[in-house]
Amino acid sequence: MKLLLSLFVLLISTAAPAADPSFTWPHGEHAAIVLTYDDAVPSDLTVAIPQLDHAGLKGTFFLMGKAMHVEDLPRWRAAAASGHELANHTINHPCARGTYEMPVQYNSESYSVDVLLSEINTMNVLLTAIDGQPKHALATPCEQTKVGSGADKKDYIAPLQASGLVTYIRDSSVPVTKLPVPKVTSIGFVGTSDADMIAWVKEVEKSGGIGIIVFHGVGGDYLSVSAEAHQQLLDYLTAHRAEIWTAPYSEAMNYVVKHAH
Ligand SMILES: [Zn+2]
Repeated sequence: MKLLLSLFVLLISTAAPAADPSFTWPHGEHAAIVLTYDDAVPSDLTVAIPQLDHAGLKGTFFLMGKAMHVEDLPRWRAAAASGHELANHTINHPCARGTYEMPVQYNSESYSVDVLLSEINTMNVLLTAIDGQPKHALATPCEQTKVGSGADKKDYIAPLQASGLVTYIRDSSVPVTKLPVPKVTSIGFVGTSDADMIAWVKEVEKSGGIGIIVFHGVGGDYLSVSAEAHQQLLDYLTAHRAEIWTAPYSEAMNYVVKHAH
């Protein structure tokens, strides 16, 4: 199950939009890094957020409703109040049959576009009840964008964008060719060493673009990186604040979209 699940997070997407030579990062940094954490895993609250808080960095947490617990709500609320971003990762995390084991009624083949949009709306209500924000970004479960099966299989990105339910969709909502930054890159780190993560960040810095990192567990849970490696990455980012702007996903996207033509 984990092997299959890891396939999608190892996908690397890169796009090279037409850069605007006059584009600058907010405080003259060379590049931007976005730290995102998927699935509302327990180590978000026990490891990732405490490490981020200690480093003075903010991350984005794509929460899925089915993994959340009432007793954790005060901690999620406090995380949001302190500047971390909470975002939508649906409630039931529907993925195509065979991606990983789940009840068949939650496979994306069993969904329609309307049913998925309704679920995303319900997750929005939950998020707004926690953080008070009127709108949220979304990350597609398993980075898949189709629901239904056979002749009824449909891509939900366009109807989701048209619905106005979410602001950005990680990796697929903003036509990157219209962004002013030289490069938009995203990567999922699974079992990656601190040296390899930092080397990737250095490449992003060299590009002058924006690098979006997808984490799942940190020091536990699944598809994880070690707590030590994550800490080393944060230490690197804090030591290089002048060169690298680390920002929550929507804040970074708002900035680059504002500077798009
Ligand atoms: Zn996920």
